[in-house]
Amino acid sequence: MKHLPKKRFGQNFLIDQAMIQSLIQAIQPQPNDVMVEIGPGLGAMTQPLLKQLNHLHVVEIDRDIITWMQGYYPAGQLSIHNQDVLKFDFQVIAPRIRVVGNLPYNISSPILFKLLENTAQIIDMHFMLQKEVVERMVAAPSTSAYGRLSVMLQYRLQMEYLVTVPPESFDPPPKVESAFVRCIPHAQLPFPATNEALFAKVVLAAFGQRRKTLRNTLKGLLDDTGFAALAIDSQLRAENLSVAQFVAISNFLAATH
Ligand code: SAM
Repeated sequence: MKHLPKKRFGQNFLIDQAMIQSLIQAIQPQPNDVMVEIGPGLGAMTQPLLKQLNHLHVVEIDRDIITWMQGYYPAGQLSIHNQDVLKFDFQVIAPRIRVVGNLPYNISSPILFKLLENTAQIIDMHFMLQKEVVERMVAAPSTSAYGRLSVMLQYRLQMEYLVTVPPESFDPPPKVESAFVRCIPHAQLPFPATNEALFAKVVLAAFGQRRKTLRNTLKGLLDDTGFAALAIDSQLRAENLSVAQFVAISNFLAATH
């Protein structure tokens, strides 16, 4: 169909057929999977997914695209949800789901944080995102890409950087390089926090002022005795701490306050 891409909806449509095929291969759709595609757009991934799946759910905000989809796809094989994914209730679909999407880059972090709340329901997720975001997701401590996103996602997910995707694979081409990532919720959390809200609070405070020492950023939360009890050097910065150490701090605070 004739469609002018809408910048406000982050519309960069995949056009590189060889790349699309390799993404589908990485996803490995099985006929009976319950799969949800976020932002199907003009169907670059939807079509090949439907070739392998009995059924697919799509969540799309753009009404023009929805109207076209309703006429284009055979009724029955596709459930079309005309909603903002940030408000979409994934629970209505099924107890266990797989999630895929070439995400609208302008809201990629809010989408990731929303899905983090649903990890018990999620089997796996495959996403196209800005390369820089995927690098932050998978980053190791003491690297420049390591930050709040890395810690909060790695707490719940095992992640794999799959492939770098150049701007020319899209129309219109985005200004930045992209990457495809696989995220699988940990079956058992490697480092469970006894109070997850407190864990999130500690991570937020620590990375609030990235260049400052933990002694400064965690002032009011953790004192010298606490740092000593945890054997963590208060002169370090947030970027030097592992997920396990963030959990240790929040579990210490949960137990002592
Ligand atoms: N999957 C298509 C492809 O690969 O060519 C389109 C990907 S495009 C990067 C992002 C898609 O997400 C667009 O179709 C856009 O309309 C849709 N979208 C943007 N914001 C959304 C939102 N808040 N909720 C649901 N869909 C959204």
